[in-house]
Amino acid sequence: MRTFPPYRAQVVTEIPITTRAERERALAAAGYNAFNLPANMVTIDLLTDSGTGAVSAAQEAAATAADRSYAGSDSFHRFRAALSELTRYPHILPVHQGRAAERILFSSVLEAGKISLSNTHFDTTRANVELLGAEARDLPCAEFGDLDSSEPFKGNIDLDAVERLLTGPERERVGMVLLTITNNGGGGQPVSMANLAAASRLCRAHGVPIFLDAARFAENAWLVVQRESGYRDKTPREVAEEAFGLVDGCVASLKKDGISPMGAFIGLNDPELAQRCETNLIATEGFRTYGGLGAHDLDRVARGVHEVLDPNYLAARAADAARLADRAAEAGVDIVRPAGIHALYLNAGRLLPHIPASRFPGHSLACELYLQGGIRCVELGSLYLGTLDEDNELVTPAPFELVRIALPRRVYSQAHYDYVTDVLADIAKNPESVPGYRIVDAPKILRHFNLRMAPA
Ligand SMILES: *Cc1c(COP(=O)(O)O)cnc(C)c1O
Repeated sequence: MRTFPPYRAQVVTEIPITTRAERERALAAAGYNAFNLPANMVTIDLLTDSGTGAVSAAQEAAATAADRSYAGSDSFHRFRAALSELTRYPHILPVHQGRAAERILFSSVLEAGKISLSNTHFDTTRANVELLGAEARDLPCAEFGDLDSSEPFKGNIDLDAVERLLTGPERERVGMVLLTITNNGGGGQPVSMANLAAASRLCRAHGVPIFLDAARFAENAWLVVQRESGYRDKTPREVAEEAFGLVDGCVASLKKDGISPMGAFIGLNDPELAQRCETNLIATEGFRTYGGLGAHDLDRVARGVHEVLDPNYLAARAADAARLADRAAEAGVDIVRPAGIHALYLNAGRLLPHIPASRFPGHSLACELYLQGGIRCVELGSLYLGTLDEDNELVTPAPFELVRIALPRRVYSQAHYDYVTDVLADIAKNPESVPGYRIVDAPKILRHFNLRMAPA
């Protein structure tokens, strides 16, 4: 299919162009941690797709006309109308970002000793479960662990494992099931509607609430239309609506498929649960008609969730991701298959076999992309997921050494992405020249944001 982005640029932002010497100095000053780099030293910023999307003129027009009334603003009514039309949940609570939605919902559903089951908990999601003294248990399907498998729905939850838990001795401990769509932790792999429906039936049969972590509801819907039989003739909106309808409610960051710089919401069917969440919301985020958000972001979201479901937009975005994946593979860099939409995951362990896990090949590749091309991205390997001893030496490596290249929405063109794969190809021509890295200083919690490294 021929496809192109269904928008054009009217306002642009200059990109910083730097020299290799400047980048070497900046990266050293940042302790070889991309999170410490000043953004004005980054040429192509692929650190995250969160809050980084380009807003439309229509979103900005709505933001300018936003109603900042404390209670019952028009902006809130537009926000709620857009989200209740999409989800059909009678209770819509705005929050400032996804992790606040998690904290508020989970504190009403879980308690110490309970278990949350998920295909994969996102990192803040896991933290919010664990802060309550509960356990976050990931039950990804078997294909999830095979990076090279092209199974279409590697984001699915392992239904047999869920059933075993719901019929076994731990049944009373299971507080909720949370399905992350798409499965961010696993390369942005989608969850099928069949898997979602089956998980929902199991939960209903055993009286356990089931929710979506729906940050990428539109991208999951697009991949269902492309890959799942029976959905070919549906629109992404119809698929998304069906997904929300299969569960009891959701938490969703709107910094991803809301295409908003800030925002999130909790959507719920159960009025009693919604009431408890609302009390917590008012005490910790803001009144129920703004929830910690500025009116402009309520309006940006109201338009953003509409724009994100445009099939032409989703087709163009998926095509960008697929082309990036193909060109990376042609350059000799293995990627996690099949390519998702919001990010490309590079298999750094395979590209840099001379660097042992203890010298962090994923981090090495991420640093090299910055040094050679000014490209910022993040390691998802042993640096992020491994366990360290007292001297910050690696004890247990992560199962894979990956690098995530995230794709901000509507920001970069194919020419920018071709530049990224050209830099990757240069690295892949001479991988032995890439050094490993050791940890100089690592805090105990939220390590990857704050650690300092040095070339080994
Ligand atoms: C980003 C994200 C969150 C957290 O949302 P924030 O808005 O960043 O707080 C939770 N779950 C998933 C799957 C996400 O991608």
